[in-house]
Amino acid sequence: MALVIGDDTANTGTPRRVSVLGATGSVGRNTLDLIGRHPEAYDVVALTAQRNVDLLAAQARQCNAELAVIGDETRYDALRDALVGSGVEAAAGTQALCEAASRPSDWVMAGIVGAAGLDPTLAAIRQGAVVALANKECLVCAGELMLDEVKQSGATLLPVDSEHNAIYQVFDFNRSRTVDRIILTASGGPFLNLDVTAMAQVTPAQAVAHPNWDMGDKISVDSATMMNKGLESIEAYHLFPVEADQIEILIHPQSVVHSLVGYVDGSVLAQLGAPDMRTPIAYTLAWPDRMATPSQRLDLARIGNLSFEAPDPMRFPSLRLAREALEAGGTAPTVLNAANEIAVAAFLAEHLGFLEIARVVEETLSKIAVGSVADLADVTAADIEARATARQIAGLPPLGDGRLSLVQG
Ligand code: NDP
Repeated sequence: MALVIGDDTANTGTPRRVSVLGATGSVGRNTLDLIGRHPEAYDVVALTAQRNVDLLAAQARQCNAELAVIGDETRYDALRDALVGSGVEAAAGTQALCEAASRPSDWVMAGIVGAAGLDPTLAAIRQGAVVALANKECLVCAGELMLDEVKQSGATLLPVDSEHNAIYQVFDFNRSRTVDRIILTASGGPFLNLDVTAMAQVTPAQAVAHPNWDMGDKISVDSATMMNKGLESIEAYHLFPVEADQIEILIHPQSVVHSLVGYVDGSVLAQLGAPDMRTPIAYTLAWPDRMATPSQRLDLARIGNLSFEAPDPMRFPSLRLAREALEAGGTAPTVLNAANEIAVAAFLAEHLGFLEIARVVEETLSKIAVGSVADLADVTAADIEARATARQIAGLPPLGDGRLSLVQG
């Protein structure tokens, strides 16, 4: 199903009402950096975080937000105390996260990490806002359902992921039949040239040290396993009117060419830029206009050479697992994502080795029959079953409740 391109809602002259879900994360902080450079252009409605009360309160005070929500209810008192005298309303809990996402806004950044972002992102979509989608996991889990909601509400979904944002910029939506492939570039992460024996020994600190991008821990580990590119293939399948076999992956270690679109006449169009998330975020924030950013200007003469190579499916089995899940359809991508969230959290907690992340995902997928997805209950049930199965495979104790959330290992 194709991405819905909405009407021109920008440039009304009055400040745009904006909310940032996951404000304390890497995407959230970059978003607020841009908003803070143009305070006259934006009224900040709601900011959310899960645990980081101090930063959330500081951000809310700084941008004079209407509402600050902390997901972890046990931190409500701390948030309320930190906001005394600020005029910022405080709230807590998963329901409050959805209420923040529902509060009337023109633009909402969906910057929560993991499937935990699904309900708040859906709430933002249902209010018909322009939704800047960074949270790829929710689209992987519930792609068709989310796009149905986009259609029904008239919301506009704009991709934030640098690859999808690049494709969005060069994809001819009016002549999509002239597109013969899209090519997602991948840096290859910190272990691009490491052999499997050495990979088995890598530590969380090494895995989160991405060579080009400064990102949150989960996506950094996903980049190191290349599951990130697998998730992005599924994301691309939902966002653009292409078939699974029209989606290619190309290793490009410099992260300058953010992705490409190939046309039937042999032309290939690409979007390039310095590896700075403020560029794709700015694209969505100013859309359909453009705004100035402090991102470094691209100096190709200084860079000199750009290199490309095919990915190695043997050392990066996550690419194959994601492709198989995409082809299987139904609940398979939900299971893939949930098992990966559990395995990555277990790796970050030093409970699993790096290579075991893909093993846990593969075994979880093999143990759970693919079901059909008619509604969100199917997604939630598959997510809960996959998390429980993955925890068992990873040797983790069972969890009391099977909440749809990014559960730490
Ligand atoms: P971070 O880990 O840096 O930030 C995650 C944000 O989500 C934080 O605000 C965090 O709050 C909040 N959060 C964590 N768990 C929950 C939960 N269970 N419920 C509600 N909120 C929660 O992640 P990133 O910013 O790196 O990534 C965010 C999303 O964007 C991911 O889906 C990622 O794949 C995607 N993305 C990120 C890019 C990047 O450059 N970082 C690039 C492209 C896509 P707290 O701080 O309190 O824990």
